[in-house]
Amino acid sequence: MGIAEDVAAWVASNWDLDMTLRQWWARLSAAGLAFPTWPEGLGGRGWRPSQAREVLVALGGAGVIGPPAGNAPNMGAPTLLAHGTPEQKERFVRPVADGTEAWCQLFSEPGAGSDLAGLRTRAERDGDEYVVNGQKVWNSRAESSEWGMLLARTNPDVPKHAGITWMMVDMRQPGVVVRPLVQMNGGAEFCEVFLTDARVPVQNVVGDVGDGWNVARTTLAHERGSIGQQQPRGLLTALAGSMPGHLDRTVRDLVETARRLATDPNRRSDVMVGSKSMIRLAKDVGKAADLEVRQRVADYWIRSEVHRLTGLRSRDNAKGGKPGPEASILKLSTAALAHLSRDLSLSIAWALFALLLLVFGTSRKLGALRWVSLFLLLATIGKVFLLDLEDLAGLYRVGSFLGLALSLLVVSLLYQRFVFRKPRPEGS
Ligand SMILES: Cc1cc2nc3c(=O)[nH]c(=O)nc-3n(C[C@H](O)[C@H](O)[C@H](O)COP(=O)(O)OP(=O)(O)OC[C@H]3O[C@@H](n4cnc5c(N)ncnc54)[C@H](O)[C@@H]3O)c2cc1C
Repeated sequence: MGIAEDVAAWVASNWDLDMTLRQWWARLSAAGLAFPTWPEGLGGRGWRPSQAREVLVALGGAGVIGPPAGNAPNMGAPTLLAHGTPEQKERFVRPVADGTEAWCQLFSEPGAGSDLAGLRTRAERDGDEYVVNGQKVWNSRAESSEWGMLLARTNPDVPKHAGITWMMVDMRQPGVVVRPLVQMNGGAEFCEVFLTDARVPVQNVVGDVGDGWNVARTTLAHERGSIGQQQPRGLLTALAGSMPGHLDRTVRDLVETARRLATDPNRRSDVMVGSKSMIRLAKDVGKAADLEVRQRVADYWIRSEVHRLTGLRSRDNAKGGKPGPEASILKLSTAALAHLSRDLSLSIAWALFALLLLVFGTSRKLGALRWVSLFLLLATIGKVFLLDLEDLAGLYRVGSFLGLALSLLVVSLLYQRFVFRKPRPEGS
């Protein structure tokens, strides 16, 4: 039997809708099917990436909940597998494989983003512990993580890349305060994390003290690789770790919720529209025969295919489990595709968006959205009456036109004056 048949047979005798997510993930991990490239006993079978992909596709085909996702399996556990001690692998990787613990990445700082090696968070040795002080930012899912992958400066007296150490910090201690950052769309996907005399046992240092930059490069290679990877069709996901509260729900409940969300029109969508959905969108709004739209949709489809194939190449070329340079290409092409997806979908359906945003934007509750609606209204006026632009992508350049900026100001004042005017107090 091939991998697909093996996995299908295993699922048939192990998937039970009445078991909890905790039980399902424990089974998946014990069978080595959670992360097949990882070692036996730690959720894997020591298999090649292409075999692991076959397992994932087969799990997707069976319509079950896939292995735990997120920072811990995508970049943290692979870092420990490459640089950790046997004790660290046993302590930290196993709970990642069975989804009972989630991790966040504590790398970026307010003054150290692109210049990551300039980070200032300090870790000073105090007996068998490090005492950590500093601030991190943009930390995805930090509010629901048990552990943080921390980069801290342990030696300020050497060149900046040489004084950094990679360590696992327990997020559940009083010295760690997590504040979600609310975005203009109302979501809060990132956090800022304040570390004040937080404690890290010396045995939680991964790699050598002062060699954190080297360890971090492994983490970042895996991060880039995971950003570009696409989930197989049909695979359902659930949040790992104890804090989101899913571990003790039945898989039946989670599957039903996931299916309901998949068909919920109000659901927040992914960062980009898939190429097939883009074709459908063009057909749905009657633009499929428009020569320019056809050309651009075809271009989008080709770029999406190149992206997908680069993902396969990246996986197959991974050396010793570490993604190669293709991972960097994937990260860049993910961002480029997200931009194209936005421009193209808006240019196909701009009139619809403008109308919807105008209608919804008049709600006071929607805050920033009303400004977006206003912008789109002006953009539409600009497109139709003033500038006769080819497509909405061009409207992003419009911001630099003095005339439109001026009309933005005037119309916004009128809009504020008449549409959002607060009712006057009685008698005034
Ligand atoms: C979706 C998402 C999730 C993230 N999750 C996490 C996370 O979980 N944990 C974490 O630690 N971080 C996370 N980050 C942060 C991220 O990894 C980067 O560290 C951060 O986005 C870059 O830093 P910055 O925002 O301070 O930008 P800056 O470093 O200020 O850069 C701003 C702009 O200036 C440019 N620039 C900077 N320096 C130079 C230079 N010398 N020359 C020319 N141009 C320059 C940059 O290219 C960029 O365009 C996340 C980011 C995103 C987008």
